[in-house]
Amino acid sequence: MAEQEASGLQVLLQTLQSSLDRESILAILQLLGDLLSVGTDRRIRYMISKGGSEALLRTLVDTARTASPDYVILLPLFRLLAKVGLRDKKFGQKALELEALDVTLILARKNLCHSQNLLHCLWALRVFASSVTTGAMLGINGAMELLLKVITPYTQKHTQVIRTAAEVLAALLKSKSNSRRAVNRSYVPRLLRLHQDWHSHDTAHSFVPIRRALLLCLKHIAKLRSGREAFLAAQGMEILFSIIQNCLDDQSLEPVISIVLQILRQCYPKSPLPLLTTSSTYSFPVPGIVTSEAPRVLTEEDYEDDSEEEEDKDSDSEDVKEEDDDLETDVNKLSSKPGLDRPEEELMQYKAMCLELSCSFEELESKPGDDLNSDETEYANHHHIPTAASPKGLFLNKDQISGGQEKEVLVQNSLLSRVKMGRSSIHLTSKRGPGMNSYRNVHSNDPGIDSSGSDVSDIQASFLEDAGDMDAISCPRISASFSNSTKTRETAEFIDQLLQTHLKPMVFHDPYLYMAKARRTRSVADFTMMAFPDFWGHCPPLSAQPMLQRKCGVQRIKILEDVRRLIQPSDIINKVVFSLDEPWPLQDTASDCLQFFSAFESGNLRKAIQVREFEYDLLVNADVNSTQHQQWFYFKVSGMRAAVPYRFNIINCEKPNSQFNYGMQLTLYSVKEALLGRPTWVRTGYDICYYKNHYRQRTAGAGAASGKCYYTLTFAVIFPHAEDACYLAYHYPYTYSALMTHLDILGKSVNRKQVYFRQEVLCQTLGGNSCPLVTITAMPESDRADHLEQFRQRPYQVITARVHPGESNASWVMKGTLEFLVSSDPVARLLRENFIFKIIPMLNPDGVINGNHRCSLRGEDLNRQWLSPSAHLQPTIYHAKGLLHYLGSIGRRPTVFCDFHGHSQKKNVFLYGCSIKETLWQAEATVGTSNLSEDVSYRTLPKILDKLAPAFTMSSCSFLVEKSRASTARVVVWREMGVSRSYTMESSYCGCNQGPYQGLQFGTGELEEMGAMFCLGLLVLELKSGSCSHQLLTRAAALLNAEEESLDFYLQRSFSVLLASSYFRTSVCCVHLQRYYLHIFCELFEVKPVHQNIKSCQKEKTVEDLKHGYFPNAFSPTLTLFYSVFLIL
Ligand SMILES: [Zn+2]
Repeated sequence: MAEQEASGLQVLLQTLQSSLDRESILAILQLLGDLLSVGTDRRIRYMISKGGSEALLRTLVDTARTASPDYVILLPLFRLLAKVGLRDKKFGQKALELEALDVTLILARKNLCHSQNLLHCLWALRVFASSVTTGAMLGINGAMELLLKVITPYTQKHTQVIRTAAEVLAALLKSKSNSRRAVNRSYVPRLLRLHQDWHSHDTAHSFVPIRRALLLCLKHIAKLRSGREAFLAAQGMEILFSIIQNCLDDQSLEPVISIVLQILRQCYPKSPLPLLTTSSTYSFPVPGIVTSEAPRVLTEEDYEDDSEEEEDKDSDSEDVKEEDDDLETDVNKLSSKPGLDRPEEELMQYKAMCLELSCSFEELESKPGDDLNSDETEYANHHHIPTAASPKGLFLNKDQISGGQEKEVLVQNSLLSRVKMGRSSIHLTSKRGPGMNSYRNVHSNDPGIDSSGSDVSDIQASFLEDAGDMDAISCPRISASFSNSTKTRETAEFIDQLLQTHLKPMVFHDPYLYMAKARRTRSVADFTMMAFPDFWGHCPPLSAQPMLQRKCGVQRIKILEDVRRLIQPSDIINKVVFSLDEPWPLQDTASDCLQFFSAFESGNLRKAIQVREFEYDLLVNADVNSTQHQQWFYFKVSGMRAAVPYRFNIINCEKPNSQFNYGMQLTLYSVKEALLGRPTWVRTGYDICYYKNHYRQRTAGAGAASGKCYYTLTFAVIFPHAEDACYLAYHYPYTYSALMTHLDILGKSVNRKQVYFRQEVLCQTLGGNSCPLVTITAMPESDRADHLEQFRQRPYQVITARVHPGESNASWVMKGTLEFLVSSDPVARLLRENFIFKIIPMLNPDGVINGNHRCSLRGEDLNRQWLSPSAHLQPTIYHAKGLLHYLGSIGRRPTVFCDFHGHSQKKNVFLYGCSIKETLWQAEATVGTSNLSEDVSYRTLPKILDKLAPAFTMSSCSFLVEKSRASTARVVVWREMGVSRSYTMESSYCGCNQGPYQGLQFGTGELEEMGAMFCLGLLVLELKSGSCSHQLLTRAAALLNAEEESLDFYLQRSFSVLLASSYFRTSVCCVHLQRYYLHIFCELFEVKPVHQNIKSCQKEKTVEDLKHGYFPNAFSPTLTLFYSVFLIL
């Protein structure tokens, strides 16, 4: 604003305060009014900064204190005050200091019968009351009584005054002292009656603002415990419930409905969980735990909650806020500090885990090239790369693949062909609408279903009827000890018969082997049963599953159903039908209710309560030796009816938000479906919401967070068959026994002349299970000295996973990594020939086995123990770290360290890495970063993965070092071992919101593919590095040429598809890539560009580079794909 104007404004304001002349005051007010009625908020703020608020308030006090106040001045003055006051945060305080409150209250009282004047006073009071302190002062001075006189029952007159008075009252009640006064003076029933009166006359919805203001009053009062009590005593729940029950869909009532819901949720009596104790049902005597006193029994008195109730989550954004306070700013703690956490001599024990460095391979004959193309084992000739949403690889039967089909399968299998854009043809699977029954949808477009479904033999049919009985198979561990029992023998025979009749070979799975492994797995509760899906196996679904579209307002309906339990309890059953805590059998098979079961590996369900005929409250178990971390669930349910929607509520979840609110579904496996030839976990459930409920944890007690809230995950399921046995889980389960089975099969599958695969035991866990360590590399070409030298000099790559047992997605990614690394894919072969992979696929076997979500058997998060792990308390971490230390001590620090995890709040797959500079910049730390030197290569791998892997996105990656993560694998390996590329790889539980999988939920196939792509990323990283050998580059080129022919075939077919693909057209982030590829394709296939922008690319240097590139035949499509990855990175 110009200087002149500024001084003019100041003169005006001064004159306003000093002038006694009515006409000049009016003129100035008129002028100010005009000035502020145009222009932006900036103008008002400017006036405030020049003392405008004070000037107006003084004028008000001076004018009002005269014997007969002049309303000709007061009315425009009030209008100005209301306008300026809205933008002045300190307005209430200023009014208080200048004594404007009293005069305004006095004026209001005088004008109770003069609505126009009264309305103006109320406007001023409304802005005064926006400050809680000022509001409290107004309350002391009797403002609330005054307002209640104004807010009358329904009348047609002066509704604007009534509305404003109600709004002022609501503002006043933000002050707790005012609310307390309101409770003491029985305002609650009065407000309820007033609201009801207005509601009953509001046929045209014209009084919504008045009703909303009255409800806001109640909402503020209900923040007090006494307020809630008064509300309940006045039948507030019943009154408000009946008001909105039938108008939920009415958009015009939205302002009323949302507040009523908030009040209902706030006033719903808080209560303890229906459990005797929150401590885990399972406890395990572990070293170093001081047995705490017996857990307190929960009582009602333990609850007080004055916290603000969350808003309705229907519209919340899912963005996760990152905390900057948590960033490490201590340069010492950020700097790499290679050093040992144990005596050096202790490291020698890990020499035995690196036999590859000392093995002489005397058995190898010096016949280079021998057998390189012969694949002698069962699995090795599969290019087994997991495919997302494709039936390939399931029940693989080579005889069925013929001619052209084979070619396509081969090409699809090649990892190179599946870099981000190459996948677009697979993406063409129709995006179905949200399905209530995933099975029907999945299989309705499956042409193969009839052959396996229609010829169900008699035996199969009888098994189907028995599905409910044989779904959990007696574990032979028990059979062994009761080998004479007829029942056991029958079971064994039954299993044999079942397997012979039904089971087609499933890639990398074997039920008998699984059974043998499960027998050796040691669990805290001594499980005697296996879950059918783990035993029988699992195949990825036949098509990708889209995210669930959330129905608008569904959460409200669910919450109202919860409230109805209190208000209309007539249909409430409240019968405990399953509980791990009760010693007596609760399962009543005769009755009509569902049966539950969870005593199997990775199982987690503690209690089930039938609430209504088709509704169950479920409680999951806390982690062993802990009172918290309830999130993971995995249980069996049987005895269901067909075509009935069952509602399930898991009522003791802990995390404040979940991807279940943003399109994620849980997973379901049906035994009947499996016996029909579809052993598939599918995403299922609809009407899924995740919200804070009325259960609270005790406020006092050992180690418990005070007054902690719980959250409900609610979902509805229509089961695919009646009388089926189904398994429901948080995410696709992957048990410890499954891993051990998998490793055994992998070990047997490799071609031992080519693949060096060694599985050994890293250590024993607290629970007495072996933590496996896997070494994968290529066998040396021969036992010649130079070949052995090359073999031993290969750099190490270290990958770990599943430190958090609830993150089964990490295991599926790991499964993809392992299968890819031992496969005959040329990329895998190159990887093996150039690296030694050290893999610890499950850092927390005990947690996985016992159905924990987060912790070890000591009830602690093992990924917070890396700073100083103990061999006795955290053996897997201690030895994983020891192995890394050992590698460092012999000068073989890994190129990359990565720990696979699952992420419950975000979508896609992404990496967390470590950077000093980025951390300091982000924290805006005062330390200068210019002197710090940092190798920026930590960004290369994520950039590569961003280009290669469909599920991966660079945009979610972060390289910040948080204080709270100081003891994680990522930070410790980075800092203590000096591994600059030390990562956590996070995979969403849900799916992707970018790339070819946008809008789809992950199946196991997508996760496994990510594991394979991670490996390809490691190869590209090496090819891009300065140290990459000429030999490797030549090998890579040769490899690409070999694939050229098959790729040509593939590309010709898919070219048109590619152009039509929505990903190709719409992906904004890859515009450059798109244009570039389009150009290449157009040139290759002599098609005219369909896209205008393509022309602009033609001169780009990248294309010239390609034509005269390093490689011979540089213009092959395969090379185009591969080479372009380099260019664009
Ligand atoms: Zn994790």
